[in-house]
Amino acid sequence: MRIVVTGGAGFLGSHLCDKLLHEGHEVICIDNLITGTVANIEHHDSNEKFRFINQDVTEYLYISGNIDYVFHFASPASPIDYLKYPIPTLKVGALGTHKTLGLAKDKKASFFLTSTSEVYGDPLVNPQPESYWGNVNPIGPRGVYDEAKRFAEALTMAYNRYHGVNTHIIRIFNTYGPRMRKNDGRAVPNFITQALNGEDLTIYGKGDQTRSFCYISDLIDGIYRLAMSDINTPVNIGNPSEISIKECAETIIRLTNSKSKLTFKDLPVDDPKVRRPDITLAKEKLGWNPAVMLEQGLHTTIDWFKSS
Ligand code: UDP
Repeated sequence: MRIVVTGGAGFLGSHLCDKLLHEGHEVICIDNLITGTVANIEHHDSNEKFRFINQDVTEYLYISGNIDYVFHFASPASPIDYLKYPIPTLKVGALGTHKTLGLAKDKKASFFLTSTSEVYGDPLVNPQPESYWGNVNPIGPRGVYDEAKRFAEALTMAYNRYHGVNTHIIRIFNTYGPRMRKNDGRAVPNFITQALNGEDLTIYGKGDQTRSFCYISDLIDGIYRLAMSDINTPVNIGNPSEISIKECAETIIRLTNSKSKLTFKDLPVDDPKVRRPDITLAKEKLGWNPAVMLEQGLHTTIDWFKSS
């Protein structure tokens, strides 16, 4: 297939490009590099099946020739990034999704939207099944990301129902692995960087809030299975193994043999108290189950942070 990947120079997008090229597809990667980096894709420089276009996907997209699939991965995705770029975050989720859906419709291509567990907001139900409508503060600082992704889901379903575009929606839960930026601001890269530098690990709040961390290779496997499936409604992909943020920080201190301690800071506004995916749908319909346990994935990620 000839495939467009927006956000292809980012953490998730670049791993997806690797997978698609490995499966023998041709990849056109589009990224404006506000949070992505060419370092994530430069290993494809001499690959004739790979092309990079530096463009903001909220602008009109012109791609010559046929396209079989459009994967829309472009968006700031770390809370500090969408606080720094609130309007680009809203625009890429809304206008960028419109442009990429328009491209898919025009080319009679399939479409894949990366949505997020953030559509569940600060959930009142744990674990979260796809049928849960969420508890989102539309005007809070995280609203720029959450509402953009909720709009993107609505637009994707409308293109599916009204224009007959073959669409897929993934709701991604916290994912980690090589190629996360050291200063990305999210818990895992922050904790690893701090532990390796012998600095105290910054716990926001008491650290009793929970997350469920999925390793990148498991996520990419789930993405590929969903992309090739006939499911048009949203599907959760994430690791249901839930831990507190404090426990996550302590695990990283132990795995890095660090002498760092914990330091406690204010909890960001609207920070979800719990998060854990219900993955029954992915298990039953895609035969997907995460294979990488947290400590195993953290080892690989820590090694990558040490060597990069
Ligand atoms: N967090 C923390 N210290 C950090 C970074 C994050 O305690 O240095 C907390 C954050 O407040 C949240 C959790 O870790 O409760 C996960 O944050 P992250 O930014 O990774 O993603 P989120 O799940 O909030 O989108």
